[in-house]
Amino acid sequence: MNLEARGIRGGMMSARSAFLEMLARHLPEAAIVTDGDAIAPWLVDWRGRYRGAAAALVEPRTTGQVAAVVRAAAAHRVPLVPQGGNTGMVGGATPSAGGDAVILSLRRLNRIRSVDRQANVAIAEAGVILQLLNDAALGVGRRFPLTLGARGSATIGGLVSTNAGGTQVLRFGTMRGLVAGVEAVMADGTVHDGLAALPKDNRGYNLDQLLIGAEGTLGVVTAAALRLVPAVAARGVAWVGVASPEVALALLRHCQAHTDAVESFEILPAGSLEAVLAHLPGGRAPLGGKHPWHVLIEATAPDDHAERPDALLERLLTDAIGRGLGDDATIAASEAQADAFWRIRDSISDAERARGPATQHDISVPVPAMPRFMVEAAAACEARFAGTHASGFGHLGDGNVHFHVRAPAGVEAERWYAEAAPAVTRFVHDLVTAAGGSISAEHGIGQMKRDELDRLLPPARANAMRAIKAALDPLGIMNPGKLLPLVPDGPVPLAPGAGGK
Ligand code: FAD
Repeated sequence: MNLEARGIRGGMMSARSAFLEMLARHLPEAAIVTDGDAIAPWLVDWRGRYRGAAAALVEPRTTGQVAAVVRAAAAHRVPLVPQGGNTGMVGGATPSAGGDAVILSLRRLNRIRSVDRQANVAIAEAGVILQLLNDAALGVGRRFPLTLGARGSATIGGLVSTNAGGTQVLRFGTMRGLVAGVEAVMADGTVHDGLAALPKDNRGYNLDQLLIGAEGTLGVVTAAALRLVPAVAARGVAWVGVASPEVALALLRHCQAHTDAVESFEILPAGSLEAVLAHLPGGRAPLGGKHPWHVLIEATAPDDHAERPDALLERLLTDAIGRGLGDDATIAASEAQADAFWRIRDSISDAERARGPATQHDISVPVPAMPRFMVEAAAACEARFAGTHASGFGHLGDGNVHFHVRAPAGVEAERWYAEAAPAVTRFVHDLVTAAGGSISAEHGIGQMKRDELDRLLPPARANAMRAIKAALDPLGIMNPGKLLPLVPDGPVPLAPGAGGK
């Protein structure tokens, strides 16, 4: 192992070599990667925004091997950066540029240990790719009701650690609701086994829930027990033109008052549809005529006994339009048309990006407040930053939209990102906070939003998070510098007193 080649010197060098020597006693040689070319692809995040350095990449295949890695890291004070599919949006799985950390890749810990059709639970190891879990569940007539664009790469460990969402949160919730138990190696090398998935367990604090959304800062998730639901027998997909986000939310409430079959309810403004149609080869507007806002609805049925979801949507939407909760609607006549509707929704980010530089914010506010927020925050941004165009689209029913602020026409992208965009982001986050919302609805904090979280998190929550970090990772070796501010030696100390911010 050529550590000199990695630029590791002096005391750092000896700690790192002692760590790697200790590891070599517990892991096969192939599991310890120090070749720079082999590590390089894992040093950059999915979007290419963050680039780090690492002394090594280790790839354990068992929970016992993960525990050995963590114990060695604790013994030699080596920071560990857990990594799954590396599809995270906030730089959480990218090591810092210092080069003192080791990437702990969970990709080889990838067995589906069981899929229990009767109990509706699957136990999957951290490195299992979401798509493979979805396929395994379908194989026994069940489904894991979470999917997202990165399903071909994102892993169970990453999804647990970011409390991932997606387009079915409306009906099934985020990972927090879908995880029945977690197995994890804690920062001291002990193994927490929560896979029994007890429906009732009141032994105090819930360690499983603490680890969900912890972004690898408290321990390493090695497996999870995941709730399954019946597979989908049929789906219906509708496109509706509406006058405003208020009407869209009223339409959602109308649907929910009559059925629990609605899984997705996505909103987009006319401008986003126009951007997609200009961007997507062969893209066609689902409805004739102009509508200021559009809604995509998906409903499903688990078996042939239930009303067909397309018939259900037609019945509900006919009634809703009669009550003024929509201007026009169409139901996809085939799976191909349903896919085409979804392709429009899934292409918005790319289409918006093609229109010019923009800051993108993954934010949430209380659901009833979202329609007003979408309109008023967009107007406030455009008034405050001359020449910008602001709009939100996405999961209206979850109170979560992707709020984009596009730069004025003709600006130089890199310059705008460096000089103007941070102020835009702070402005948006201030509006979100004032509305009682969250600056990260789905993607987490990582390194991207760490300073903003530190600026805006209320003291009670900030101090609790710091205390938990200090208690569970006293050496500060678990993904340092992510989620909480970086402190060189050890975890973040408590703020002096709870007042202040
Ligand atoms: P990584 O990116 O490898 O890691 C993410 C974080 O989890 C890091 O902090 C890492 O340190 C930590 N981590 C990873 N594995 C472990 C482990 N075993 N133990 C402890 N910590 C660990 N997200 C959504 O929520 N909803 C979406 O709709 C959505 N759509 C996306 C679409 C695309 C095209 C892309 C590229 C991403 C999307 N994401 C979405 C973001 C991303 O897919 C999720 O955050 C996902 O959960 C990351 O999983 P991963 O395995 O790639 O984790």
